[in-house]
Amino acid sequence: MKLLVIGSGGREHAIAKKLLEDDKVQEVYCAKGNPGMVEDGIKILDIAEDDHSSLIEFVQRNEIDWTFVGPEIPLANGIVDDFEKEGLKIFGPRKAAAQIEGSKDFAKQLMDKYDIPTGSYKTFTDLNEAKDYIKSQGAPIVIKADGLAAGKGVVVAETEDQAIEAVEDMLESNKFGQSGAKVVIEEFLAGEEFSLLAFVKGADVYPMVISQDHKRAFDGDKGPNTGGMGAYSPVPQIPQSMVDTAVETVLKPAANGMLLDGKEFTGILYAGLIATTDGPKVIEFNARFGDPETQVVLPRLDSSLAQIIDDLLNDRVPQIEWNDDITLGVVVAADGYPNDYKKRMEIPKFDNPDIQVYYAGVAREDDKLVSSGGRIFLVEASGNSLEDAQNKIYSALKEVSLPDMFYRNDIGDKAK
Ligand code: AMP
Repeated sequence: MKLLVIGSGGREHAIAKKLLEDDKVQEVYCAKGNPGMVEDGIKILDIAEDDHSSLIEFVQRNEIDWTFVGPEIPLANGIVDDFEKEGLKIFGPRKAAAQIEGSKDFAKQLMDKYDIPTGSYKTFTDLNEAKDYIKSQGAPIVIKADGLAAGKGVVVAETEDQAIEAVEDMLESNKFGQSGAKVVIEEFLAGEEFSLLAFVKGADVYPMVISQDHKRAFDGDKGPNTGGMGAYSPVPQIPQSMVDTAVETVLKPAANGMLLDGKEFTGILYAGLIATTDGPKVIEFNARFGDPETQVVLPRLDSSLAQIIDDLLNDRVPQIEWNDDITLGVVVAADGYPNDYKKRMEIPKFDNPDIQVYYAGVAREDDKLVSSGGRIFLVEASGNSLEDAQNKIYSALKEVSLPDMFYRNDIGDKAK
C-alpha cells in the first residue's frame, strides 16, 4: 500500500510511523509533514493541507491507496467531502460530522438530544446576557469559544471577574476572531480528566486505551492552557468501570446520534472526559486523534494501524489488540509558548535507543534541525512502570542542551 497522511505535527509523525510498521505498506507520505519525520522513513510533501486540489492530484498521480487526516482544520474545511467527490478513499469525518469538534454549541446540542452526560451550559453572542448569566451562576465557571482555537479557547475562571474578562475578550475584543463570536458558558466539573478515543465507522465504535493529557504550560498545572505539554497511558486512577461506562453512555450514543441525524461519523472520535462522582462527563469532543495523546496511545497498539484503517474503509471488522506497556510523552516547547516565542533554536540529536522522538514545530536549516513552532518535539518512552518511562525520558532530556526551550518535569506524577 501507498498512503498519505495530512498534517505536520508530532501526532502525524506518530501516525505515519505506525502505518509504516505494516509490511504491506511500502510508502507513507505526509503533507506537509516536517523534516524531523524523514529519519523514520516518512516522505514529506511540500503541499499545504488546505490545498485540496493539489493533494487530490498527487493522490491520483501516485496511486495512493488511501489518505488519513490528522488535524481538525482540514476536516472542518471539508477535505473528506472533496476527496470523496473524486472517488478517493480517505479516513476522517465529512465536514458536517466534523462539527462535533468545530462547534462546541453543535456538540452540546447533540449531547442534549441523546442524553450524553456533560455539564450544564448556555450559549451567548450578546456580551451583557453572558455577563448576567455568569453573575447568576457564580464561579468557578468555564468559558469556551464556540469554534476552533487550537486548544486555547477555554478559560477555567476561578472568579466571576476572570469569567467576565474572558467573555469580554471573546465577544468584545474578538480575541479568537469568528471562533469566539459565540461563547459557551459551562458548569465547572470537578474530577480527574482522561481522554478516550475510538475508531468509529457509523454506529460501530472500537475504543482505544485511555490516556491523560497535561494542558497547562507549567509544573503543578500552573500557567495558561496549551495544545498539550505531555501525556501518559494507561491512567490507573481511572477505574475500568468508568471507562466502560463512558463507552456506553458517551461514545456509542454520540456515534449513533450522528448517524441518526444524517451526519454519519467515520474517523477518530475523541471524548475529553472528567471522572465526576456522578460518572464520566464530557468536556469536549474532537473529530481526530489528540496531540500529544496519540504519541502515547499508538505505541500501545499491537495490531497494524494500516490494517485497521483499511478494514474500516472497506467495511470489514478490524482486529484490535493493545499491549500492557506504560507509555509517557513529554513535550519540549519554545520559551514563551503558548504566547510569543523565539524560533530557529538548534534541536539536539538524540542517540538513545530507550526513547522515540516525535517532531512537530521543526524546520531544516543547512544540515541542522531548528525550531519553527511553539511545541517543538515530544520525547516518548515505554516502560514496565511509570517511573521507568519517566527516568528514560528525563535522563535523555538532561543529557542535551535545550537553549530557550522548556518542558514540564511532572508529566505522569498524578498517576503515582
Ligand atoms: P478543552 O479545550 O475543552 O479540552 O478544555 C481545556 C481544559 O479546560 C480541559 O483540559 C480541562 O482541564 C478544562 N475544562 C474544560 N471544560 C471544563 C469543565 N466543564 N469543568 C472543568 N474543567 C474544564
